[in-house]
Amino acid sequence: MPSTDLITIDSQRLLIFVNPNSGPGIALKTFNTRIRSFLGEANISYDLIVTSHVGHCQKIVQDFKDLAKYTGLVAVSGDGLLYEIYNGLFAREDWDSICRIPVGAIPQGSGNGLARSLAHFKNEPYLYDPLVVSVLNVVKLKSHEMDLCLVNTTKFPKLISFLSVGWGLMADIDIESERLRMIGEARFTVGALARIMRLRTYKATVSYLPAVSGISDEEMSSLPPLDEPLPDQKWISVTGEFVCVYSSLIPFIGTDLFFAPKALLDDGIIWLMIVKAPASKLQVTQLLLSMEKGNHIQLPWVTFVPVTAFRLVPDVSVGPQSYLVIDGEKLDTQAMQAQIMPRKGRVFMR
Ligand code: ADP
Ligand code: MG
Repeated sequence: MPSTDLITIDSQRLLIFVNPNSGPGIALKTFNTRIRSFLGEANISYDLIVTSHVGHCQKIVQDFKDLAKYTGLVAVSGDGLLYEIYNGLFAREDWDSICRIPVGAIPQGSGNGLARSLAHFKNEPYLYDPLVVSVLNVVKLKSHEMDLCLVNTTKFPKLISFLSVGWGLMADIDIESERLRMIGEARFTVGALARIMRLRTYKATVSYLPAVSGISDEEMSSLPPLDEPLPDQKWISVTGEFVCVYSSLIPFIGTDLFFAPKALLDDGIIWLMIVKAPASKLQVTQLLLSMEKGNHIQLPWVTFVPVTAFRLVPDVSVGPQSYLVIDGEKLDTQAMQAQIMPRKGRVFMR
């Protein structure tokens, strides 16, 4: 992994967002009982904002005048608030410079893919106490470049994703298990069982641009608009029926979901999984179970490819529709495309 930068400005101040309704709903209590004392001991000053509603954090990040005065932005939450931070930054006029502001992940949600992945990169224990490693990643104030993804969908032409895009089985599990967020990350397991019992398939065309090593940022041209054909013969297209299409930029999409074992923060790759129909209930169970150790990528009926861009066009004229889930946020099924933005963001990682 390339070297990290040490930030050396004199007055360090973090802007910390706490989502009190994150996961089991104890984020604020955890902040007051544990995180606050870590910050005190590390001599970190900060401003604290407790979010009161969906979109609150995004709006603040978008409108905050001198946001650049902060050393970094930290979310005490699940991945949802990090998504709001990045999309708030993306909506700003100074996006091209402010995107470099380090972002920190202190896991309190029911989906904490980034915090889990950072612990994995540092080869640090996480499961016993996710907080210690994650808070240390923040208070050291060291940051590392992180790939981001530019996403457009039919209804949302400009989104930023730092984590995942899902459609089909795993997206449905994610959304249908939302009401179980009180039970924490176990909601995925419970949701998966329910979904496997009622397994569905969905029609679409999936196209992707396989990653070739050595491609420079400049060579990454932007994608044509969603309703126009894709440019050249390097693209691979599959039309048919699918169980699941899912992509991630980082290894873990949840605590026990080791989705992209080889992913790095700055590898310039979107790791794309395509599961075509038909797949039996047994196969789907095997897929989800083997994801705990990252062994799903070897299953012969699973396509798992490193790409730099992909497009998904669901056939909305037939059959049941899936959700489209971007970094855990739910959208109705719609066409989407994603393109890697190598090393565009930064994340606190010691
Ligand atoms: P989880 O991992 O449990 O989903 P997140 O922190 O990712 O937890 O948050 C989930 C959603 O909660 C985010 O989309 C965010 O917009 C929303 N949110 C933020 N603050 C609040 C609040 N005070 N009440 C309800 N929802 C909120
Ligand atoms: Mg990556």
